Amino acid sequence: MEVDIVCVGFGPAMGGFLTTLSRGLATAGTCPQIVCYERAEGLGFGVSGVVTRARGIRSSFPDLDPSQIPMAAPVADEHVLYLLDPHGASRRSAALRVADAGLRRSGAARDWSFELPWTPPFLHKADGLVLSIGQFNQWVAEQLMTTALVQLWPGMPVAEPLIEGGNRVLGVRLADQNGEPGMDIRAALTVVGDGPLGPVSRIIDATMGTPAGFERNDWAVGMKMVIELPAGCALASGTVLHTFGYPEPEIFGFLYVHPENVATVGIFVPSWFDSPVRTSYRYLQHYLRHPAIWRHVAGGRLRSWGAKSLQESGRRAEPHLVGNGYARIGEGSGSTNVLTGSGVDEAWTTGIQLAEAVLELMREGAPYTRENLERTYVARRRASWVDEEARVSERAREGFQRGVIEGLAGMGLTGLTNGRFAWPGEPMPPHRRLPSLEDYYKGRIPPEEIAAMRRECSSKAVPLHDALMDRCGWPPMEYDGQLLVSHQDALLVGGKVQAPAGYADHVVFLYPSLCENCPTQLCVEVCSGQAIVRGEEGHAPVFDREKCVHCGACVWNCTTEVGDGSGRTNIEFRAGAGGLHSTEN
Ligand SMILES: Cc1cc2nc3c(=O)[nH]c(=O)nc-3n(C[C@H](O)[C@H](O)[C@H](O)COP(=O)(O)OP(=O)(O)OC[C@H]3O[C@@H](n4cnc5c(N)ncnc54)[C@H](O)[C@@H]3O)c2cc1C
Ligand code: SF4
Ligand code: SF4
Repeated sequence: MEVDIVCVGFGPAMGGFLTTLSRGLATAGTCPQIVCYERAEGLGFGVSGVVTRARGIRSSFPDLDPSQIPMAAPVADEHVLYLLDPHGASRRSAALRVADAGLRRSGAARDWSFELPWTPPFLHKADGLVLSIGQFNQWVAEQLMTTALVQLWPGMPVAEPLIEGGNRVLGVRLADQNGEPGMDIRAALTVVGDGPLGPVSRIIDATMGTPAGFERNDWAVGMKMVIELPAGCALASGTVLHTFGYPEPEIFGFLYVHPENVATVGIFVPSWFDSPVRTSYRYLQHYLRHPAIWRHVAGGRLRSWGAKSLQESGRRAEPHLVGNGYARIGEGSGSTNVLTGSGVDEAWTTGIQLAEAVLELMREGAPYTRENLERTYVARRRASWVDEEARVSERAREGFQRGVIEGLAGMGLTGLTNGRFAWPGEPMPPHRRLPSLEDYYKGRIPPEEIAAMRRECSSKAVPLHDALMDRCGWPPMEYDGQLLVSHQDALLVGGKVQAPAGYADHVVFLYPSLCENCPTQLCVEVCSGQAIVRGEEGHAPVFDREKCVHCGACVWNCTTEVGDGSGRTNIEFRAGAGGLHSTEN
């Protein structure tokens, strides 16, 4: 099939691109054929916070009335809380324990938390919005469909770009289905907005290379719940809480309040949290149970749940933004601001910039060559606040390579000096910095006890993290069937994890023999959907496509390099259909 522009992925970046482009085309009275393929089953897919300053979004919708977007609210109130550990189970440094004791003795801590007297300016979202990304994407899609200028196709994973001669993208190939080869879609321009782990982006990088200094070593899993707050909850719509310090010092958390007594509560588990059994789901439950959070959510009801990876190298992971026949926008193009923790508005704005460039090239009748896209799109991006702020934040998280206190100090330093100073640290691929289980638990659990737990969990084919966390003093989780539910039940809330028939597995263990000798099998521990489970003793894990939520965490958590010199690890994340679908996330 031949079209004029083919687009991969429908997230905020593509929303910004298609909104701006379709308006420009309507004004110009031209009608090229534009097709956008989204992997997920619906256009309201997405997992995010979201609190955003919404500068780019408001520039697209100057008269935006948040009440027209379900779950949207203006930011009303912001707080930053340091959370102490009420159980003594987290792995805290001696310095942090002394600080915690001081806060408690002085009476400054309430509900095991200490509110910073001031929110650092770089964290402020005071003029912004609280959104649900699913509802926002759905709202944008509805506006686009009324233009009849863009075809949006959910449930259609793109397998790969069509590359000619190693330096020109001619379009894309859709994923094979039911044994039938996927269709080729040829286009003058391919717009890639496939997010942090998109296969189309990765294949372009592998074929055409990456710029000097490129690195993509910092990641996090963001896991969240949408909660109907209990009646009488005092939190007002638009309230924003940022937290740090608990359940582990490395884990950041958030609570954002939507209209109608609904909140989003979640955590980020980063790749520099060096636990070889880092799990998100159980930590999220302990987070909910922290007294400073629980006092707001106790008695509430879980409405939805989700997880997704975040690419946290920011501008350092900026690939070639354009080439002959293609351009990249959004998080996969390195647009996320890692100092302020914001990606939605940045992604949206890169979409606007590309659309303006495309409209300019259309007016000129100029082809989509690398030079023309550099001159129009890349030039706009370089001159914009997105690039300026991404440069400021570029080194903001380096300190976390050394430790939490250094990381927090580094963020403060970078934020307060507008990027002039950072706490130095060398980002490393996650698997190269991970200690063994025995080293991680040194002084807390003897190696022989770890070995016995490992044997027992292997024989029961269950992950190891629960046994280890129980042993370290994390209290057992008492499920109430309303808000605290088992991981399996969370997958069923809303009944929205889907795996349409006829597609191949998208998570592939490249060399199962490497898995057989893998001591931690971290892919099993981190799996957000319990879709990767231990195999029989001495065998590779088993992947169940029907449970996969496409969070991508297994890829950057695999601990073993395949050894072909590329530095890639033993899991490949290919284009796949289905996964999580909740318009509330
Ligand atoms: C839990 C969590 C909380 C967050 N909180 C905030 C916040 O408070 N504020 C903020 O600004 N940002 C936040 N972010 C980050 C923000 O969500 C992202 O930066 C933003 O969504 C990036 O937009 P994007 O369009 O570039 O990519 P995405 O939103 O990832 O969209 C990419 C789309 O491409 C699709 N796709 C991928 N591969 C294919 C394929 N092969 N074929 C077809 N489609 C494909 C995906 O399904 C997806 O829909 C958060 C993220 C998470 C996970
Ligand atoms: S995929 Fe990676 S982490 Fe998982 S068992 Fe195999 S080698 Fe280990
Ligand atoms: S198998 Fe699926 S759900 Fe599990 S970590 Fe990988 S992408 Fe996430």
